[in-house]
Amino acid sequence: MIDSVSISAINNPIPKYLFPPQPKSIQQKQKQQEVAKERHMMKPSSGAPIILFQALVALSLAGLSVSKDFDFFYFVQQWPGSYCDTKQSCCYPTTGKPAADFGVHGLWPNYNDGTYPSNCDSSAPFDQSKVSNLITTMQKEWPTLACPSGNGVTFWSHEWDKHGTCSEEVLDQHSYFARALGFKAQTNILQALKTAGIRPDGGSYSLSSIKSAIQSGVGYTPFVECNTDESGNSQLYQVYLCVDNSGSNLVECPVFPHGKCGSQIEFPSF
Ligand code: 5GP
Ligand code: 5GP
Repeated sequence: MIDSVSISAINNPIPKYLFPPQPKSIQQKQKQQEVAKERHMMKPSSGAPIILFQALVALSLAGLSVSKDFDFFYFVQQWPGSYCDTKQSCCYPTTGKPAADFGVHGLWPNYNDGTYPSNCDSSAPFDQSKVSNLITTMQKEWPTLACPSGNGVTFWSHEWDKHGTCSEEVLDQHSYFARALGFKAQTNILQALKTAGIRPDGGSYSLSSIKSAIQSGVGYTPFVECNTDESGNSQLYQVYLCVDNSGSNLVECPVFPHGKCGSQIEFPSF
């Protein structure tokens, strides 16, 4: 018999807590609306008091600096088979071998010109207690494969310190990890590839078929990054999708990273 929990899981496979309300961004939106209103109301009247003008300029700059911190996020997922079959090899996490699925690498704030901010706030280190209700899902969906074996905290801390601290204006620490997990659940890349007959079987597939399978399944154009296995074969390593700068929705990428795959690439097993 199917209980009500399973039914709600079927109807709503992405847990609600992964997309919590965002009081901060709502405040920012209201602030930007206020700034826009003020701008609209500002008429070039010579009698307008200078102090009011200065106050409006200051308010506009405050609004602009919030929205100009970065332009979008890359949401990056890695194929564990391609991390592990390289010269450097890998180590399974202390929690055991991860599932044969793409894992989250990170959610990275980026600028439209291709550059990106990093390590923006050393006063806000990763704090496991802020994400305690996400840890089990992170172990599953965001496993670490670096050596020596770890429980994930080093990887997650690195991602938070380097990238997450640059989007604190829109995503606090809990929201940062929850959103990334939400996008992982929303973009089932492996399923999209399998639907197109592309499987992690060590076979060789055309890059264009991989891209169009992900485009069809997810609805957005991916960037595919390759690395090379021990014999030097080009293989599917990471998939980049883009998210708007409020961290809410997938968008088409304003710019793609550089890097080349062969026109035929391998999809190794894991
Ligand atoms: P790699 O040099 O191996 O491509 O990247 C090393 C690290 O630099 C990545 O894991 C990521 O933290 C950062 N990085 C590389 N390329 C980009 C990019 O285009 N945008 C952002 N935001 N970070 C990047
Ligand atoms: P990034 O390339 O994001 O700047 O840095 C990745 C860092 O996280 C590296 O120091 C790398 O050793 C560590 N790391 C830990 N686990 C993983 C993993 O599963 N994949 C990748 N790409 N890096 C990992």
